[in-house]
Amino acid sequence: MVSLALLPLLLASPSALVAAWDKPTLFPDPAGLSVLDTGFRQMIPAPGVRYLNTEGWKDRMPRACAEEGESIQESGMMRCPLWNMDVFTVHYADVPDDVAWLFCRCRDADYSQQTMIDEFGRLPIAIRQRVRYVMSFKGLKFAGTSNNDLMLQEISPTVMLHEAAHCFDDNGSKSGTANYESAIAKDTCWADGYAQHQGENNNRADPWAQVLILRLYQTLVGPLPNVKDKDLGCLWNQLKVVSQQTDELIRAGQSGKFDYSKKRGYGEIGLRTDYATGFPNVGATSDMASKMRKLEEAATQIKHSVAPKKRTVGDSVSRLWRA
Ligand SMILES: [Zn+2]
Repeated sequence: MVSLALLPLLLASPSALVAAWDKPTLFPDPAGLSVLDTGFRQMIPAPGVRYLNTEGWKDRMPRACAEEGESIQESGMMRCPLWNMDVFTVHYADVPDDVAWLFCRCRDADYSQQTMIDEFGRLPIAIRQRVRYVMSFKGLKFAGTSNNDLMLQEISPTVMLHEAAHCFDDNGSKSGTANYESAIAKDTCWADGYAQHQGENNNRADPWAQVLILRLYQTLVGPLPNVKDKDLGCLWNQLKVVSQQTDELIRAGQSGKFDYSKKRGYGEIGLRTDYATGFPNVGATSDMASKMRKLEEAATQIKHSVAPKKRTVGDSVSRLWRA
């Protein structure tokens, strides 16, 4: 039952919504923003690596990586049993010696350790430092963020930027502002099909992330390809807000003075053996045949006796799987 008092509002809103949200894309599918990957790679070199530490992580790992690795997939198998996960820290050459990022990489991931390191290193420092851990797994070309960790099955400059943008957004502190909301309302296009789809579903973090990618391209690479200036006007309001929110932070990050206060701290770190719930006897030093035997035993055990771990779908920012 709809009260009469509400009717004018209800009648007024659909047309207003259509006008505000039903609009075309600047970078249409199927390529979307991936047309920017070449420019990012050409103009932003991956920083060198000062020091790669693998030895120090043989027996230890973050709990978050262990939980992600041991999450049970639809196949009934773990995403990445811990004996198959490499943990390492990377000290990039463009930041002080004592600053490092922690990576967890499943050995069967589709992208190499070097690709992971290079593509993450390409991120501007201001964005990179808001990411806690970087994880990579084998899978169906998805990428997501959870608790400021990146979970990557696909790796490219724009995918890396999109996911890291959620960490840089600090739980919607930029995408969730009234300024950005009104910019969306004023603009006559979305950045791409993903921004459009998510935006139409009231998600603001994803359209914001895509506009940040466009703004970074403008400031770090050059004019956006395949887009005339007059066409760019359809996204002008969002670009302006994102520019006001982030240009200075990006510049400060590249200034050579590393802001330690903005570096995301680690969460719980523990012994691999303490976290290896499904594989109590499999340590990092066991031989491969023994590992495989135990993996099969454990997989059978999981299939028959352990209910699949529920993957929590949090709010739109905490876990966003990007198609
Ligand atoms: Zn996203």
